[in-house]
Amino acid sequence: MANVKDILRDNLAAVEGRIAAACVRAGRRREEVNLVAVTKYVDAEVVRRLQELGVRLFGESRPQELWRKAAELPPAPQADVEWHLVGHLQRNKIERTLPIASLIHSVDSIRLLKALEGEAQTQARRVSVLLEFNLSDEPNKHGFKRDDLDELLKHWNPSSDVQVCGLMTMAALSADPQEARPVFATLRFLREEMQRRLAPGEQFHHLSMGMTNDFEVAIEEGATLVRIGSALFEGLESGSHD
Ligand SMILES: *Cc1c(COP(=O)(O)O)cnc(C)c1O
Repeated sequence: MANVKDILRDNLAAVEGRIAAACVRAGRRREEVNLVAVTKYVDAEVVRRLQELGVRLFGESRPQELWRKAAELPPAPQADVEWHLVGHLQRNKIERTLPIASLIHSVDSIRLLKALEGEAQTQARRVSVLLEFNLSDEPNKHGFKRDDLDELLKHWNPSSDVQVCGLMTMAALSADPQEARPVFATLRFLREEMQRRLAPGEQFHHLSMGMTNDFEVAIEEGATLVRIGSALFEGLESGSHD
């Protein structure tokens, strides 16, 4: 695995360098941006190497994969490793996901939000989530639309065990990352709009946006969580790219 670790170290350094440069361009502090390593392409052994290199936040897009890898990698007591779910959560998978995911990026309907509230109460557990918005008008993508804001307002329940910590979006895949900029700027605008209309509390500040192709633009537009997969794992042969 020595070679794997070298590749990962180089990839991580390159990503870190790009994050730092984007922060400088945007006049932001590096600590404002959290790297979530999206590990759906690799097995638990590679995740372990990333942990050894100091990465602490890991994301999976499928609940079953999240359960599996989190179980294979019990966090060492001193390692403050966190797992995030970044992809769609089916309601029948909530029960097993809640105890594992420290943040669910992908709450994409009122129905799911309500189901999470119910299960959080059952498990006597607080759960942190982001609301996913589909701002690029791709029909097969999950997420709220801008027009759903009134509906969200109606169902807003600040006293529930579900803490809404911010918003998430995915830009359409494009050869030119600049094309993602309006989508990211819109998500930031929506955060401000919700802060104004809902007074959701100070925990509501996260913007999860930016992937391998567009994370620098996302940081310039205010991302606090960038979800990066491919850029960390390029050059590894073991990846089963899905
Ligand atoms: C796969 C995935 C990512 C990471 O994508 P890369 O382009 O490989 O960096 C980020 N967010 C979500 C929701 C994903 O499914």
